[in-house]
Amino acid sequence: MSPADNDESEAELLKALLAERDLPCPVCGYNLRAIASTNCPECGAKLDLRVGSTDLKLGPWLLTMLAGALPLGFFVCLLGFGIFVELIEPGAVFFEWWSLVWFAAGIAVFGAEVCILAAVRRRFWGRPDMKRWRGALIIWLATISLFAAFLAVAWHYG
Ligand SMILES: [Zn+2]
Repeated sequence: MSPADNDESEAELLKALLAERDLPCPVCGYNLRAIASTNCPECGAKLDLRVGSTDLKLGPWLLTMLAGALPLGFFVCLLGFGIFVELIEPGAVFFEWWSLVWFAAGIAVFGAEVCILAAVRRRFWGRPDMKRWRGALIIWLATISLFAAFLAVAWHYG
């Protein structure tokens, strides 16, 4: 089967699925029952067939992402605040070279953590429940330790 044949049979499967079902467009919510093409008639979004699951159990995953996202947000806010202060009052004590390096390092380290976690998402989801919660706990402990190390460096230089 060529890719074009595959696309065509998928389009036929999609239309057959929607022929007698009330299913909403994932983008705009329009009822797609008996549509004639593979685009939403209301918003024009391209539609395709996918296998989904309601069994993803997002709790441990969201908790794990939060571990990286919180310190990342902290450093982004501090940098934003530092730039703001510098613009209002140039040469303010707040914006010394080491604090710039500190902000950049924090954003790099915790940004990398978030990217790595996003990249291993499927492997994380595929593990049994207990291992997911344990993974979340380990990542939180590691992140808190790393964050404490950052604070210790700031304490030392500040
Ligand atoms: Zn739509």
